[in-house]
Amino acid sequence: MKCLSSFLVLGLGIVLAHGQGDPSAIKKIVEEGKYRSQVMATLKELTSKFGPRLTSSTNLERAQGWAMDQFKKYGCTNVHLDQWGEFPVGFDRGKKSFGRMTLPEKVDFEFTSPSWTEGTNGPLKGKAVKAPTTKEEFDAVKGKLKGAWVVYTEGNPPRPPMRPGAEITPEQKSRMELEEAIGKAGIAGKVTASRNELTITSGSWRLDLANLPTERRAMVRKSDMDKIAANLAAGKDVELEFNLDQKWVKQARPQYNVVAEIKGTEKPDEVVIVSGHFDSWDGPGSQGALDNGTGSCTALEAARILCATGVKPKRTIRFILWSGEEQGLFGSRGYVARHMDEMDKISAVLVDDGGTNYQGGYEGIESQKAIMEAAFAPVVDAFPGLSEVFRSRPQMPRGGGSDHASFNAVGVPGFFTIETGRSDYNYVHHTQHDKYEMAIPEYLVQSSTNHAVVAYNLACLDGLLPRGPKPEQTPDPSGVPGLDKLLQSKN
Ligand SMILES: [Zn+2]
Repeated sequence: MKCLSSFLVLGLGIVLAHGQGDPSAIKKIVEEGKYRSQVMATLKELTSKFGPRLTSSTNLERAQGWAMDQFKKYGCTNVHLDQWGEFPVGFDRGKKSFGRMTLPEKVDFEFTSPSWTEGTNGPLKGKAVKAPTTKEEFDAVKGKLKGAWVVYTEGNPPRPPMRPGAEITPEQKSRMELEEAIGKAGIAGKVTASRNELTITSGSWRLDLANLPTERRAMVRKSDMDKIAANLAAGKDVELEFNLDQKWVKQARPQYNVVAEIKGTEKPDEVVIVSGHFDSWDGPGSQGALDNGTGSCTALEAARILCATGVKPKRTIRFILWSGEEQGLFGSRGYVARHMDEMDKISAVLVDDGGTNYQGGYEGIESQKAIMEAAFAPVVDAFPGLSEVFRSRPQMPRGGGSDHASFNAVGVPGFFTIETGRSDYNYVHHTQHDKYEMAIPEYLVQSSTNHAVVAYNLACLDGLLPRGPKPEQTPDPSGVPGLDKLLQSKN
């Protein structure tokens, strides 16, 4: 199928300039996406086979291999891993983590533990001891700390300053010394509380392989901590048991994005990117389903739809599954830095990373408005009730919490799809609830179809999508771990 670059009249009666895709090809794409969708089956397979996919984990590596197989199976070409950097250490979780109170009552906890921290190497029971907050309190409980789970019933321990060399107050200093003394007292680990019923997973990977931290940490829900505190306040002996099924992979680990293509027929060196980040946080319970299994699977499904219909875009449509997003958009920042000479030929970058809601449109500049509205019009027509908007703003969004920001930083139009619908993203993302069951099928069917139609239409425009002026400063990629080395070896 060829793209038409004349004026078209679509179902909505909008007259379109700039050229868009061939209407009969668009019809095929919509039918494949809407009536023969595989997006839920793909998400099910991803989440059940691999679970969460922390950057630097074996799960992510295996899932990336699977994603490449999917792209190949669909009929994509140039399927490969594109390295963006390296993590200093790897970290894997198993599926056997649990946490509970065993005395004086039995309570199963919902909890998490930071990524890149020490595991228990099997279930580990210990008495709960209330965390001392002064030197005097420490001296009073010193004898009870060995083998104990130290519980922070009255607020979490102070964090060390983020920047090395940052100034600290004398009070902060003595609290930090106290925390260090607790850590060195042979304890089982430290147990903190979340602010509410969500346990949010995070973690710091900036570690020295020769000197990895040995402290074990668990964070329970507020309501679980309240139960521990009530029993301690009543003078009862409290016993806790945690199995932190997690371990280091003690070697530096190269990190990659997954790339696949449908080659353009007329301008193969010009590109529309369809993408989502493939990595996730990995706390107990999470499958990385909505952050961002959904956005990865809509990109995969868009590839399947476009291949299955055999449409021929004028420009190349490139599918990219980023990694390292959760730690700082590393995959996309590394990609931009390593492919800087291609940026002038990237027409647009579509990023789906807002959970399971449907693709409700885009934010960009006024000169893109008519083109983008025309690009998604057939999808609005095909999915009644799922409307889309284009919001104009004076310039492309600067910053923003996902991979589109890496492209806008160098003047390439990056779009974070406006997520619209009934799903509550904050309940799910980075929490124990990030599971397949939370996904909303009809929204993902729309999102995949929208991705495919919009990418195809943009790939068939007369020219590249209009863009704003190039930012004066190019971003500093030095925060992306291992990227320096790659850039040097390229030169
Ligand atoms: Zn995300």
